[in-house]
Amino acid sequence: MPRDYYEVLGVDKSADADAIKKAYRNMAKKYHPDVSTEPKDVAEAKFKEISEAYEVLSDPEKRKLYDQYGFDGVKQQFGQDGFTWDDFTRADDISDIFGDIFSDIFGGGRRNRSRSSSQAGESLRYDLEITLKDVLEGKKASLDVPHTVSCQACKGTGGKDGNVSTCKTCGGQGQVQSVSRTPFGNMISVKDCPDCRGTGKSYAEKCPHCRGTGRTTKESHINLNIPKGVEDGMKLRVSGEGNAGINGGPSGDLFVVVHVKEDKTFDRDGSNLWTGIVTTYPKLVLGGEESVKTLEGENAVLTIPPGTQVGTVLRIQGKGLPRLNSSLRGDLLVRVTIEVPKKVSEEERDLLRRLDDTAGSRPKKKSSIRKKLDDIIS
Ligand SMILES: [Zn+2]
Ligand SMILES: [Zn+2]
Repeated sequence: MPRDYYEVLGVDKSADADAIKKAYRNMAKKYHPDVSTEPKDVAEAKFKEISEAYEVLSDPEKRKLYDQYGFDGVKQQFGQDGFTWDDFTRADDISDIFGDIFSDIFGGGRRNRSRSSSQAGESLRYDLEITLKDVLEGKKASLDVPHTVSCQACKGTGGKDGNVSTCKTCGGQGQVQSVSRTPFGNMISVKDCPDCRGTGKSYAEKCPHCRGTGRTTKESHINLNIPKGVEDGMKLRVSGEGNAGINGGPSGDLFVVVHVKEDKTFDRDGSNLWTGIVTTYPKLVLGGEESVKTLEGENAVLTIPPGTQVGTVLRIQGKGLPRLNSSLRGDLLVRVTIEVPKKVSEEERDLLRRLDDTAGSRPKKKSSIRKKLDDIIS
């Protein structure tokens, strides 16, 4: 249900024709997509809304119907989909401001297509899931992509054996005009030809292979190199592998969207990788080495410096991911933790007690929370 037309134009129910025209012109200056600061689709919708309101309120007959019966009263003035630019008869009222307001900004409707319009095919999207290891090594992906291609049997014309003639309804124009009488003179509206659907060609017999559409579906096998270092969400364009065009229009493209699966062991951070290892308390205190599995499955040596704290992140250079279009590699960042055993042997218990009794194992500094508490108390 559209908004109340008076409300849309911001005028009173008793406003006269001049006031309505003035209100519309002012709003058109604000919302015409060529001048509006709003996003284009918002401006277009808004401009269409005010134009619909103006179309009704500027016409004494329509306005009377609207006043009496509301939207139901004017519904029949417009087509099934409601108000479209074909229904707009008042373009002259603002043409002094904007010139031809239908220049090219509105999809469909008034746009003048060239003779037997050709259309580009739709582009397609293919979602491809790869692993982190594929990011490391690159991947040769082979995709089976169903898409439409020009029908070979009829050479894309839709007529049996390619036999087509010029559409008699539109004389090959692809469009038909209809003239309607309005209180303001004859209005010409232009629509896609219903018989040839805008192609300008007709056929006596449909091509049986494509049922007259000129396109058939085919699964294409596409080999695609996924580059090393590819990022999650990246789109790779494969030219011309979308749907076939219509009437000799170019094919659309295929967009392969890469999704990198989460890895159990490694987290990605740009070209760096994060992982973790569990080491022992003595190694953190005294220093030592641990073996860390890299993404390629090799064992790398991690050097733990003496006095390393739990949670410290150590770096193994050049064992991260490759950067896109570069021979450089990021680093492997290793967070070091220890596991506190729940059970210990008698001997271990002894050793730990003796260790705890020595002064060196005691924290010298108070923890920051403790220190704050002391501050509050004193
Ligand atoms: Zn065909
Ligand atoms: Zn036609």
